[in-house]
Amino acid sequence: MTNSMLLSPPDITDLEESYVIRALRSSWPAPGGPEVERFERELAAFVGVAEVVAVSSGTAALHLSLLAAGIGPGDVVAVPALTFAATVNAVHYVGAQPLIVDVAPGDGTIDVDLLGDVLDANRGVTAVIPVDLFGHCADYPRLLPLARRHGVAVVCDAAEALGASLAGRAAGAVGRAGIFSFNGNKILTTSGGGAVATDDRDLAAQCRRLANQARLPVAHFEHDAVGYNYRLSAVLAALGRAQLQRLPGMMKRRRTIRERYLDAFADRPEIAVLGGDDPGGNCWLTAITVDPAAGWRAGQLADALAAAGVETRPMWRPMHRQPAYTDAPTALTGAADRIDASGLVLPNGSAATDDAVEHLFAELRRFLASPRPDRAARSRSRKEG
Ligand SMILES: *Cc1c(COP(=O)(O)O)cnc(C)c1O
Repeated sequence: MTNSMLLSPPDITDLEESYVIRALRSSWPAPGGPEVERFERELAAFVGVAEVVAVSSGTAALHLSLLAAGIGPGDVVAVPALTFAATVNAVHYVGAQPLIVDVAPGDGTIDVDLLGDVLDANRGVTAVIPVDLFGHCADYPRLLPLARRHGVAVVCDAAEALGASLAGRAAGAVGRAGIFSFNGNKILTTSGGGAVATDDRDLAAQCRRLANQARLPVAHFEHDAVGYNYRLSAVLAALGRAQLQRLPGMMKRRRTIRERYLDAFADRPEIAVLGGDDPGGNCWLTAITVDPAAGWRAGQLADALAAAGVETRPMWRPMHRQPAYTDAPTALTGAADRIDASGLVLPNGSAATDDAVEHLFAELRRFLASPRPDRAARSRSRKEG
């Protein structure tokens, strides 16, 4: 369908093609090498950190950051209930224990008051991984002093938040380290990739070493630790360099779409946009919640948009609801469950054509003018029950 609109497809142009072809024709299409170093330097300058270590995925970046920050067996790591599973998995990779902390109802990032209660309660937390959900920064102005007071390490999962900022600090540039993902659906893609960002040169060196099999700089393949093969390929780094040049433009396009949403919902008090109109957000995706008293449910809007070729997603299932983590200790208020039950993620991709965007908002207006009556509401109240 020509008017179809996907959630956040890759936004690839001739510039990316030319960079990739040049890297393929160069004498160094292998992992590492000058193209990766250029990407790291350019990204470090963009984010405003001393060091960036480019790796094969955001998950690998999380794993390495936790290892390099010295987090391992015996540590308890606070993670927010709303995130992608990789945040929690990385805690398991290093042999630490995740503790799932509920989120702030307004933006879905870790609830800092609740985190304070958890830290006061001496539940053994030694580190926290705040997540900049959907490209909106966690509440760092309150979280960082709290973590400092309790001597808790902060590693930021900014996988979704490249280009975002809060109170003058760039996403990924707070705490001991921040990580980004360059997966295909993220705001900048290398088709698959990630990075660690940090001002701590030792931590960066440690990540670089572990990503390269902890191989010593000698010819005879000697290793002084158990490392990983987490390096980024030079071809993908070239793709990332082209994407980085276009990032301000891609963010501007997403912001335009976000503003259309805010406009469309301005006189609809039953709809809340997670993170509100945060001027520092990168507008990766637009997530909304629909008041249960509205008389219609997010799922009905999803059905109406799907029929019109517009992709939406339900909210990410909270971590304490995941079969994989049923044993994890929690601190819950019900906020993540309420967001999950009433939420919907709307498309915000920078590659969408003007026609596709007009089509989306025409369909949205049509639905909001007369939402279909909610026949299924009673039988679908499973999550609240
Ligand atoms: C995408 C994502 C990751 C993982 O990134 P990959 O590159 O897919 O490994 C981690 N955390 C969050 C919050 C993400 O959205």
